[in-house]
Amino acid sequence: MSKEPQYKRVLLKCSGEALLGNQQYGIDVETASRIARDVKQAHDMGVEICIVVGGGNIFRGVSGTAQGMDQANADYMGMMATVMNALALQHAIEKEGMDSRVLSAIPMATVCEPYIRRRAERHLERGRVVIFAAGTGNPFFTTDTAAALRAAEMKCDALVKGTNVDGVYDKDPKKFDDAQRFETLTHLEVIAKDLKVMDAAAISLARENNIPILVFSIHDEGSFSNVLCKEGKFTEVK
Ligand code: UDP
Repeated sequence: MSKEPQYKRVLLKCSGEALLGNQQYGIDVETASRIARDVKQAHDMGVEICIVVGGGNIFRGVSGTAQGMDQANADYMGMMATVMNALALQHAIEKEGMDSRVLSAIPMATVCEPYIRRRAERHLERGRVVIFAAGTGNPFFTTDTAAALRAAEMKCDALVKGTNVDGVYDKDPKKFDDAQRFETLTHLEVIAKDLKVMDAAAISLARENNIPILVFSIHDEGSFSNVLCKEGKFTEVK
């Protein structure tokens, strides 16, 4: 029996770090291709997909401020980094035969489209994979918050967050053998227990808009489409 997706439209949050592969810095093309193949599996099941990509593999605002840079300035640099990642992902996605558009919150007319909600909506209806770049377009925010914001604007049925581990734990499972994994949580529990799922602004926005968050490992091939069918390992925040 073929797998049945449980969602019609989802937003995938892909961190910049996920694009590192085994590198210390930058974009690993093979990793981008693997993520694109996972997106293709989900797309083939008829799910409408939008993506918010981070920038941590290239530049994070905090690394600039640590060197004495003005935060707003450093954050704009971080947002530029997400545009580079978005273009790399677009290339990988189109190589898999899907049509896609990059929409940037900071207008960059010669590089990609500006973010216009109705246009994004139209692209999704036409089966294009929409990649949202430049976060929210504002300093002092993160791409997690951008993911929750765009998921709300696009009326997504779920926000699917790809991480390095297969769900939400009470402490870092890579450091602690006795870390406990959660199957389900509420948005409020995530905030009250200060669990490292997404920042509090993102969780609150998802909660206010009744958007469930599914946390899974982006490194396990095929896991994205499994999660959309509620199969495999993931934590659901609802
Ligand atoms: N950023 C920002 N506003 C936003 C989104 C991102 O200023 O709305 C900046 C911020 O400096 C951040 C960087 O862009 O550190 C990269 O994004 P993020 O750290 O969220 O990427 P990820 O951790 O997902 O790779």
